[in-house]
Amino acid sequence: MDDRARALAVAHDRATAFLERLPERPVWPRASYDDMLEALGGDLPSEGTDPAELVEQLAVQAEPGLAGIPGGRFYGFVIGGGLPAALAADWLASTWDQNAGLSAISPAASAVETIAGGWLVDLLGLPAQSAVGFVTGATMANFTGLAVARREVLAKAGWDLDQQGLPGAPPTRIVVGEHRHSTVDRAAKFLGFGRNQLIVVPADGEGRMLPDELARALEDAGDGPLVVCLQAGEVHTGAFDLFEPLIGLAHDHGAWVHVDGAFGLWAATAESTRHLTEGVQSADSWATDGHKTLNVPYDSGMAIVRDGAAMRAVFGSRADYLIEGAGDPSERTPELSRRARGFAVWAALRSLGRDGVAALVRRLCDNAARMAAGLADIPGVEVLNDVVFTQVVATFGSDDETRALGQRLLADGTAVLTPGEWRGRVVQRCSISNWSTTYDDVDMTLAAVRRLLAE
Ligand SMILES: *Cc1c(COP(=O)(O)O)cnc(C)c1O
Repeated sequence: MDDRARALAVAHDRATAFLERLPERPVWPRASYDDMLEALGGDLPSEGTDPAELVEQLAVQAEPGLAGIPGGRFYGFVIGGGLPAALAADWLASTWDQNAGLSAISPAASAVETIAGGWLVDLLGLPAQSAVGFVTGATMANFTGLAVARREVLAKAGWDLDQQGLPGAPPTRIVVGEHRHSTVDRAAKFLGFGRNQLIVVPADGEGRMLPDELARALEDAGDGPLVVCLQAGEVHTGAFDLFEPLIGLAHDHGAWVHVDGAFGLWAATAESTRHLTEGVQSADSWATDGHKTLNVPYDSGMAIVRDGAAMRAVFGSRADYLIEGAGDPSERTPELSRRARGFAVWAALRSLGRDGVAALVRRLCDNAARMAAGLADIPGVEVLNDVVFTQVVATFGSDDETRALGQRLLADGTAVLTPGEWRGRVVQRCSISNWSTTYDDVDMTLAAVRRLLAE
């Protein structure tokens, strides 16, 4: 075998072994960042290392510093795993090494993005003609949607952003919910919007923007360029904004409506949760992730814009040495050269089928309901949210006790919950986002919590 074949064979063996060991291995990393610096660092040697040997070394040395993210008991943050077909297609994407920016050099990469994008807007119940850009995640999808929004609302106010830039532009107001995700603020910042341009609208106890408060905020905002950011899936509670009234109000005021639906937009794919996204299709742009509810390996996000021409106006580019084709993916993303992310999304959707996507979403929700009911049954444990989707927020006594329980669970290694703050209390957050989580995983986690609380 040549160097490449031997290195790939080692990678395959090591990858398979890692996946097989997931059910037994501690879910939280056993080594720290400093341990990893020591294990993998030092001066770069003058001499190289045999590729196969090096890959073997990397796999062995990195292992203790890895989290069991692809396994069924990682419930921290909002993190999906990798469906078998998506993972394998992602390996192929690395092997093929296609540049997905231009159709001409990779018709396959470009076509799967067109196809998967079409399936996606159909599954999510969004307007059929919407344009889809395959980006790294919801942060960049928010950035992408808001970049299009910025140009459009300024154009409507008679301002040519491409020519004149931001200096002297009519001030744009960005209306956001009290419980928006922090990446909406990051995206706004990257786009040159300052904190003074944000109007923050109060929310209810589950984190949903209050329609009366939005109406008031829109009155206060006046006539200038206006963007309203709504949310499908609050990161703690999983709650959904009430899209129908909110989008109606925003559009009455001439606003562009952007929806951050990183994990929640997927509620639209299952009958049992579809009502949560009712009305969301009336927005102008949407952000979602492939690497959360859909369980595509990192990194995978999609920026969806109703008006494809508006998206191309922001991201389309020209250079003498490129071959421009119809529907170049680079017209829909901030990047030119990039990984062919569409293959893994295409594979995830095609391997599950329409019913399989719905079943995945239902299963995540069932597991979340089981976890919430099990937690609420444990004396001293309180579930704070209305569990409508995949998120459970719980306290385990006082703030200190809640914090301590989370740390002991990480040390114990059975499962991972991660801490946060909700309604002024320290909580542990439990996000059921992995395709492979079973009732057994949920029950093992509940047993570990009971045992640690009793100790
Ligand atoms: C995860 C998340 C984001 C950020 O997404 P990344 O994929 O981490 O960039 C934005 N909004 C919400 C609601 C999220 O859950």
